[in-house]
Formats: sequence, structure tokens, C-alpha cells
Amino acid sequence: MSPAAELRRALLDSARAMQAQGLNRGTAGNLSVRCAIAADAGFLITPSGVDNHAANPGDMVFMTPDGRHQGRLLPSSEWRFHRDIYLQRAEAGAVLHAHSPFATALACQGRPIPAFHYMIARFGGSDVRCARYATFGTQALSEAALEALEGRCACLLANHGMLVFGRDLPHALALAIEFEALCEQYWRTLQIGPPQVLDDAEMRLIVEKFATYGQPAG
Ligand code: 13P
Ligand code: ZN
Repeated sequence: MSPAAELRRALLDSARAMQAQGLNRGTAGNLSVRCAIAADAGFLITPSGVDNHAANPGDMVFMTPDGRHQGRLLPSSEWRFHRDIYLQRAEAGAVLHAHSPFATALACQGRPIPAFHYMIARFGGSDVRCARYATFGTQALSEAALEALEGRCACLLANHGMLVFGRDLPHALALAIEFEALCEQYWRTLQIGPPQVLDDAEMRLIVEKFATYGQPAG
């Protein structure tokens, strides 16, 4: 299999895993991975409005940064924020958008998630912001999302869902699962009252600790 064919397969498998993990239902959400095909740098993205279980690897859509796409199917309606994350965030190798139950419930409140738990630092700082509402599929939504993602690798999208990016597909999927778990914990915490929020100095320390958390590379 060529590297591009392998990535198409991996993208479809990861999109199916989003459903299996309860992050998405039906045709909500979308996923992309940075890649180059021949001389063109760009990304592969899930097609719009297609159930991933009915799709095959050849249905994954290749796009270039100027918004052109190749193939039989139209790209996800949210290709603009995927494209803009790849343009502005060099560390992004895969971008995931979901209407997962707990993140979406919080996004409908339009509020950031504070440092109610130290794991919030996993996403880059002392909170996870909520991007202001904009219509799905618009450049305005992309701009709002990129603003909310400054210094972070996750945000909520008001009245919509979550957006996460990682260095590759497994990393983006793992972060999205972690983020949805945190959203559930925050939702549960709010049921019994306001949380004790960790201060910025502690959160800076946790962000530093995450830089070397886990097993050393290699
Ligand atoms: P697509 O099927 O076009 O990817 O749209 C789903 C979605 O979540 C729009 O915000
Ligand atoms: Zn959506």
C-alpha cells in the first residue's frame, strides 16, 4: 500500500473509532490528517454527510490549502477550520471535531472549562476556552475556533461541540477521549456545587510536568 493509501485507511478507521468510543453518532463530526500527495501538501478529510461505516478508504477527500478538493465526494463542511489549523499550527498532524455528549452539553452553556481538575493542563493551559458561536461550515466559525485554540490543543464550539488536534490520528483520538471524560467529570462536579479551581501557578507547573510525563521518546 502507498503511504497515501495507508493514511486513507487509517483516517477511516479512526473516524469509525470516534463512533465506537461514543464521541459521534450518525454523520456528526469529522476528522482529518495532514499529508502530501505527489507535490501537493494538504490534508485528507472525511467526506460530508457520509456514515463512516458505509464509506471506504477511497471516499476520504484530499484537499489543498487553497480549498480545492480531489475525488468523487465533497469534503466535510468544516474543511475551513481543519485547513486553518494546519496552516497556523505546525504541531498539528490530525484534527478531530465531535458532537460528543458532555462536551456539547457544556458548549451549549458557552462557558470555558476552568482548572477544576489538573488534567485540564493536558490541553495546554489553565482552561479550555469556548469559541463564540458561528454558523457551521463558515470561515467565521474557523476564526472563532482558531482564537479559542491559542496556546491550546482543544476548545469547545458554542452551541455545537468540541474541536481537538494532535500530532497524529491516534494522538488526536486519545486527546478527544480524554477531553470528553473531563467534560463528563466537570458536568458531574457541577451537579454537587461549584468546584475548587486550581490556581495559575499550579497549572503552569502541571503543564511543565506534562512535557516529560509518561515514557521517554524511543
Ligand atoms: P460534515 O458531515 O460536513 O463533516 O458535518 C458534520 C458536522 O459536524 C458539521 O459541524
Ligand atoms: Zn459539527
